Amino acid sequence: MQIYEKNCAHSNFCHRLAAFFSFNMKILSSKAALQLVIAEIQAHKKSIGFVPTMGALHEGHLALVKTAQKVCDRVVCSIFVNPTQFNNSQDLSSYPQTPERDIALLKEVNCDILFLPESPQEIYPDGVTSMEFDLGNIASVMEGAHRPGHFQGVATVLYHFFNLVQPNRVFMGEKDFQQVAVVRKLIVLMHAPIEVVCVPTQRAASGLALSSRNMRLSAQQQDEAVAIFDAMQYAKSNWQRFSPKSLMQHLIGFFDAIPDAKVEYIAFADADSLEGVLEWSDHQSVRVFVVVWFGDVRLIDNQLLF
Ligand code: AMP
Repeated sequence: MQIYEKNCAHSNFCHRLAAFFSFNMKILSSKAALQLVIAEIQAHKKSIGFVPTMGALHEGHLALVKTAQKVCDRVVCSIFVNPTQFNNSQDLSSYPQTPERDIALLKEVNCDILFLPESPQEIYPDGVTSMEFDLGNIASVMEGAHRPGHFQGVATVLYHFFNLVQPNRVFMGEKDFQQVAVVRKLIVLMHAPIEVVCVPTQRAASGLALSSRNMRLSAQQQDEAVAIFDAMQYAKSNWQRFSPKSLMQHLIGFFDAIPDAKVEYIAFADADSLEGVLEWSDHQSVRVFVVVWFGDVRLIDNQLLF
């Protein structure tokens, strides 16, 4: 059994001050070490907030940690690039990894515990494969249809993490709205007393949603990718003027003039069932979902229309 803490060498005075006045974030790389710390927290009757991530952290991830800190006694963040949720090996191998920087950021915001599994084998001792969950229709539309196996992979890793961390609450980003719905379903299937807290999407001043993948965009692509936000804003302001079908054509038009951009899908869906919407109705809440490639970078975003 192994528990260890790493102290990051902070390069500037502010970082050193923050570290001095705060505490040592526990960095745990084994399940056994994590379980020991979780048992200790539970013995002290402290609530646990959990923030699962794949690292390459940015202010979006930190917003989840900060929200968790407001309502939970202890916050556990995980960084694990989960192989089972990638349906494209190129996407997995090019996924950005910045562990030293991530550790410094989490220390700066006084996160209590970082679970940083040393290898996929730590989470998947019997082989890196997904379990099969009956996630229903919410997992088969949009991302489910375009990334076969993705949500089974997400559900599998979170099933393991929920069993290890035993959180009272899990904090997830609205940017991955469908993922939040899938996790709610997983929690029902697990009969686990975990509350899902959906945290608003953090954006750059331009409107572009913060994403780990943004660091793989060129400066020009970062500017061009603002078209995603512009299209969603247009949809929010103008949906009443159009049928869903013709609004869709207008939104696709936002990307026509950008040679580097390729729309994978744009969808209008019911905010609860995630069923596609063919006609507007007063009786439902509708969101727009957008996935666009800029070069070889896949960006995802969504927004409430009404
Ligand atoms: P990831 O590391 O991309 O798997 O994301 C980990 C968590 O951070 C997920 O719950 C995401 O929805 C959330 N997240 C990612 N980007 C943002 C953002 N811009 N604003 C809020 N949450 C985000």
